Formats: sequence, structure tokens, C-alpha cells
Amino acid sequence: MVRHTDVAVIGSGFSAVALSLNLLDVLPPTAQVSLVGPTERQGRGVAYSTRLDCHLLNVPAGRMSLYADRPDHFVRWLAENGHAGGGDDFMPRRIYGRYVSDCLHAALRRTANRAALTLVDAEALGAEAADDDSLVLKLSDGQILSSRAAALCTGAGVARLPLSVDAMAEEAQRFIVHDPWADAWWECLPESADVLFIGTGLTMIDQCMTLMQRGFRGTMHAVSRHGLLPRAHLARRAEPVEPQIAAGADLSAMLAVLRVQAEAAGDWRAVMDGLRPVTQSFWKTMSETQRARFLRHVAAFWNVHRHRMAPAVALEIESLLQSGQLVIHRGRLSAIRAGQSGLAVEFDGRTEALAAGMVVNCTGFDRCSVAASRLLADLAAKGIVKSDPNGLGLAVDENSAVLAADGRVNPDLYALGPLTAGRHWEITAVPDIRNQARSVSGVIGARFSAV
Ligand SMILES: Cc1cc2nc3c(=O)[nH]c(=O)nc-3n(C[C@H](O)[C@H](O)[C@H](O)COP(=O)(O)OP(=O)(O)OC[C@H]3O[C@@H](n4cnc5c(N)ncnc54)[C@H](O)[C@@H]3O)c2cc1C
Repeated sequence: MVRHTDVAVIGSGFSAVALSLNLLDVLPPTAQVSLVGPTERQGRGVAYSTRLDCHLLNVPAGRMSLYADRPDHFVRWLAENGHAGGGDDFMPRRIYGRYVSDCLHAALRRTANRAALTLVDAEALGAEAADDDSLVLKLSDGQILSSRAAALCTGAGVARLPLSVDAMAEEAQRFIVHDPWADAWWECLPESADVLFIGTGLTMIDQCMTLMQRGFRGTMHAVSRHGLLPRAHLARRAEPVEPQIAAGADLSAMLAVLRVQAEAAGDWRAVMDGLRPVTQSFWKTMSETQRARFLRHVAAFWNVHRHRMAPAVALEIESLLQSGQLVIHRGRLSAIRAGQSGLAVEFDGRTEALAAGMVVNCTGFDRCSVAASRLLADLAAKGIVKSDPNGLGLAVDENSAVLAADGRVNPDLYALGPLTAGRHWEITAVPDIRNQARSVSGVIGARFSAV
């Protein structure tokens, strides 16, 4: 049997919930929104499913409201729900997940004079474009859902280890954790063993915090190409400084100006924060060649300054570095072999015998998730979507409407969140996604009221 809905929102993380809630504000009361995704994670996604209090938000509470037009919504929710914490505090992500989920459940209850929201506990496996331009989705529970408009909010996925299978000895495979979010991998780590993290970003920091909370005593090694760690937030945010760079300027010239400004401001964070509101527009003025140069030469440095650690987490990491319990290595991983006492890991062709009980993939987001997602791969094979030229998710237009393989904009199919980094670049964190959710809901709402 085919079920019908007006808008199908596919995903179960922040992007899907933010879009669904915004849609309820703009669609006619007769409309039906279906939120398709695993219900047990609804609103939490990868980022906010953690149950551990040591996993803190990396953005202060005052900037984490779900709604672009109600900036104090999260801070008010904290107070109303008995959580100590103000606008400058970095709250546990677990609590933020509860907030998003609470907002979702409140919206499910409030239906009078508003569009209706339904949860569909299933994965979207594939889709086809019907003759009347609706999208017909095939769901994992066997249902077929036909929708007039749809939004892909399926997230970025986990990046694969930067190693071919041939470079990983079969005997070593069982020591390798490919997705650190999928399982409680640390439960299989022998008590006295050391561990090796591949990647030195926020995913690695989270895994360190997890092990420390569990009383881990061994050594944590972490390796990445540049060996860069995320920088720390200041306990008190410096006043943002407006960047003095001209749109369309050469990348090297831009960076030189920013360096001078950072020196003058006394703290580079002021310049980085000043860039936030204009990063998307700068990215849009860059040519594909400039973007590729940025990704190759600047992105690793950009990321550690832009995506920072909460002050309390930074303090703990600093003390682990000082004590030698966390050791950062710089190098390109070239092979993992099974050694006599654990794993032998090769960086840049040099063999370092690390007695690591496990190797954990902490390389972060996979932005080219078109191939990694069964749904997106199906849509791409049918020409309904295409990849961004730099491999940063899907090709979308200014309104986040998806481009088909022939380059035509589909005004009834949208993508949100990290999936749209190719167009917007700065579209990973809540403050950016909630703006996107608001503007996409406005565009979809206008199409419904135009009929
Ligand atoms: C560990 C971590 C910590 C972060 N901390 C912060 C922070 O402190 N502050 C901040 O502003 N940002 C933070 N971010 C970034 C940000 O909040 C995320 O980028 C954002 O939550 C992305 O949400 P999303 O819904 O697009 O994707 P995801 O959270 O990845 O959710 C996508 C969901 O869609 C579901 N899905 C996938 N395919 C299908 C399908 N075919 N059918 C149905 N469902 C499907 C998946 O089950 C998944 O749960 C963090 C990100 C991570 C990973």
C-alpha cells in the first residue's frame, strides 16, 4: 500500500528535527509532515546520542537554541527543566539531545490549527521520481511513502580509515574500530593495553574523555597528518572582530590579512568568531579551484581553530599531554600489522611498534556520503541527485534545493546540514543549521501556499 504525505523529512538528527519544527510554523493546517528515521535516535543523531556527561557541547548554551528566531530558547529550557547552566556554559551533549527530543515531542502533541507531524520509524532505502513529480520512497519496514516535497537530512557519516584493506593485516582487523560511535568499543579494550587513535580532532578528544571517565590507565596515542589538536574556547568569549577582507580576494592574501588582524586583536579567536557570520558568503565567492586549494592546504588548520574544545575539556586534555598519558604523533598512516605484543603501526613507511590493544578510527566526518549512504547512492544512480564537485556532500543551489545529474534544480527536493557543505561550507554546527532549517522551511511553505 502506498501512503501519502506532503513533506517527507528523511533523517533523525538535529537537521531533520529543526526542519520539521520550522515546517509546522509555515505549512497550512491541512498539511502533513512525515519524519522518516530511526525513532529511538530522533532528535539526537550522532552528536547528541551520547549518554556520557563528559561529552560536552563545543558551543556555549546561549548559541544552541533550536530556533533561529528565539535565541534564548535552550537556556530557558535548561532553567525550566532544573538544569544549572547559563548562556556561557558548555552543557553535556546528552542534555542537549534531551532538549531537541523534548521540543519534538511537544510539537507532536500540538496539532490544533497546525500542520500535523508524524514519526515514521524506518530507514529510507531508495526513491523514485513519479510522473507527477512526487518522490516515492521505499522504506525499510516495507512501506512505500509518496511525498510532494522531501528533504534529505541524513548527516555526513563516518570517514573511512585512510588505509587500503591491503595495508591492514587480516590478524590486525579485529583490533580496528571503524566507527567509534557505533559500539561501546572500549568495553573490549584489555585493561592494561594502550590505544591508538587515528585522527587528532574532536572525535579523538571525545574518545579520550570516554576512556578517562572509565578510569583508563594506559597510554593513548593519536596520529594525524599534521598532528594538530583542536584549540580551546576561552572561558569568557572575546568580542568578535569584523574581518577586513574583500570578497573574491586571493586565498593567501585573505589569510595574511586575518593573521595581522588576529595579532592586533590580541586573541585570534576574536577574528575567527568575527568570520562566522560571513564565512558562507566568502565561500560562495570562491572558485572551485580556490575551494580545492582551501581544502588541500588550509582546511586542517581552519578546523582546529574553528571547532574548539570546551574549556573544561581543554584543561583535562592539557593535563593528559603533560603527564604523557596522551601522546600526539605526526605522520601519514601507511600500514597496520599484527605485532608480537599488540599492533605494529607504520607512519610514513617507518615502523613504530606500538603495543596498542586497539586502533580507533577518529578521522571524523565523511563528507562524500553519496557512496556511503544506500539512499543517496540509489538517488545518484537514478540521476535525482549528484555529488558536489569537491566531494563535500550533495550539489545544491543557494536555497539548498538539490541539483539533479543534469544540473537542473529540483524545487521539491532539499538537503540540509553537513550534506550541503559543498555549497555553504560553514554548515555543521547548530547555529548554522537552524538558519538553514528556517530558510528551507520558508521556501517549501511558499510552494504550498502558491498552489
Ligand atoms: C560528536 C559530535 C559533536 C558535536 N558537537 C556539536 C556542538 O557541541 N555544537 C554544535 O553546534 N554542533 C556540534 N556538532 C555538529 C552538529 O550538531 C551536527 O553536525 C548536526 O547535529 C548534524 O545533524 P544532522 O541531522 O544533519 O546529521 P546526523 O546527526 O548525522 O543525523 C543524521 C541521522 O539520519 C539518520 N539517517 C541516515 N540515513 C537515513 C535514511 N536513509 N533514512 C532515515 N534516516 C537516516 C541517521 O540514523 C542519523 O541519525 C557535533 C557533531 C558531532 C558528530
